[in-house]
Amino acid sequence: MEKTQLIEAMERIVGKEHVLHSPEALYEYSYDATPGHSYMPDVVVSPGTTQEVSEIMKYANAHRIPVYPRGSGTNLSAGTAPLKGGIVLLMLRFDKIIDVDLENLIAEVEVGVIVQDINDHIAQYGLIYPPDPGTVKTASLGGTIAENSGGLRGLKYGITKNYVQGLEVVLANGDIIHTGGKNVKDVSGYDMTKLFTGSEGTLGIVTKALLKLLPAPEATKSMIAVFDSIDDAGKAVSGIIAAKIIPATLEILDNATIRTVEDFTHVGLPVDADAILLIEVDGNPVVVEDEKAKVLEVLKANNAREVTLAKSAEHKAQLWTARRMALPCLAKLRPTTFVEDATIPRSKIPDFLRIVTKASKDHNVTIGTFGHAGDGNMHPTIVCDLRDEDEMKRVHDAMDDIFKGALALGGTLSGEHGIGLGKLPWMEQQHGKEGMNAMKAIKRALDPNLILNPGKLLGEC
Ligand SMILES: Cc1cc2nc3c(=O)[nH]c(=O)nc-3n(C[C@H](O)[C@H](O)[C@H](O)COP(=O)(O)OP(=O)(O)OC[C@H]3O[C@@H](n4cnc5c(N)ncnc54)[C@H](O)[C@@H]3O)c2cc1C
Repeated sequence: MEKTQLIEAMERIVGKEHVLHSPEALYEYSYDATPGHSYMPDVVVSPGTTQEVSEIMKYANAHRIPVYPRGSGTNLSAGTAPLKGGIVLLMLRFDKIIDVDLENLIAEVEVGVIVQDINDHIAQYGLIYPPDPGTVKTASLGGTIAENSGGLRGLKYGITKNYVQGLEVVLANGDIIHTGGKNVKDVSGYDMTKLFTGSEGTLGIVTKALLKLLPAPEATKSMIAVFDSIDDAGKAVSGIIAAKIIPATLEILDNATIRTVEDFTHVGLPVDADAILLIEVDGNPVVVEDEKAKVLEVLKANNAREVTLAKSAEHKAQLWTARRMALPCLAKLRPTTFVEDATIPRSKIPDFLRIVTKASKDHNVTIGTFGHAGDGNMHPTIVCDLRDEDEMKRVHDAMDDIFKGALALGGTLSGEHGIGLGKLPWMEQQHGKEGMNAMKAIKRALDPNLILNPGKLLGEC
């Protein structure tokens, strides 16, 4: 079909002012936060109502035009990259918090709302929406639903799927459906809400969500523990959970990351330490005191050489600089940064970190690892230069060792960043041919013309 016809059709549906097609605009939406994937779309369209999304999908389906839903474009798996040209569907005009139902503790929110804005809004009621990816101040609700995002509080509070109770979705053929609802118990039919959550824009366009909210914790206690041995740090992580404490946050940084952060920030991190753990317990003040004491015992029993307790919110922010700055500092080392999120059972963290160190040495690539130790969600971060072909081959080989190693430990390719394009080569190894066929059958049933984010998550269907 002629590109002009497509542009005119989109302008008729959403209005001229919500359609972009200049070369500069198309380039701007040709990539996301993932290095190495840039493909030009034909048009960028910003609908403002569910009805408009439905009309766009009807048109795209009739003319077999690929559609790539997009929020803030912060995903790390090339999820919004317009691989086969077509329409980038920008969902940021869906920017309203429609309702906060205090009796049912449910918020009804449009998908273009930024996640932090939900929390800022509900703080007045003493409530929280727990999923908090590192991009909480930029990521859209829709992007986090489509990626089933996690974050720092995943260990105690779970991830996005645990808080999405209902959805409004526009299907590939333009049908509008509503899944789930405000019922706490609801076993009527397949769990379509969970199916769409984490489907990376390949099954439908989410327009609205019903989100479960929780009372905000009354108290928190944060600390940082320094270890001479990564094995001891790993044992401390398992030990804390074995002591029946579920911290809100339990993060780890390896030596390469500690040294890099210190090089750039000079905040006095122990550059000779093998690992640092950052721990936060939260809840009722009495329970928090008790849990803090038990965590300190476990840290001591596992040879933490130094533990510092945060004395105030400012002190906590200072102690947590190391975690906050881990990715920005690693990213300063080289032009290109790949942040992976292979995830393993938490008891296997030391084994996994050994695999990463070996991959780094064997293939001569620089890797710093930090991550959500409590839930085994590690972020081996490979810094390199995309323009250096030889180095990129070595990076791929290192990733191959890391992903295969994670799977061999009973882990998974992705704890929170999704599959997109980046992890396709290893999908069949994790899910088997039959598992892939079952997922492809779902895709073909809901999107028979394969127009929704084609080529992502499952590859060619
Ligand atoms: C520095 C950094 C730190 C990060 N830290 C974390 C972290 O701690 N935890 C974590 O889980 N992730 C993390 N991420 C990844 C990323 O922020 C999350 O995946 C985020 O949730 C994506 O939101 P977004 O609005 O940018 O989505 P986008 O990147 O725009 O889209 C993501 C995916 O969702 C699809 N999509 C978007 N909107 C819709 C919709 N309305 N309907 C259907 N599909 C849709 C897209 O097609 C794409 O496949 C991080 C990323 C960066 C760059």
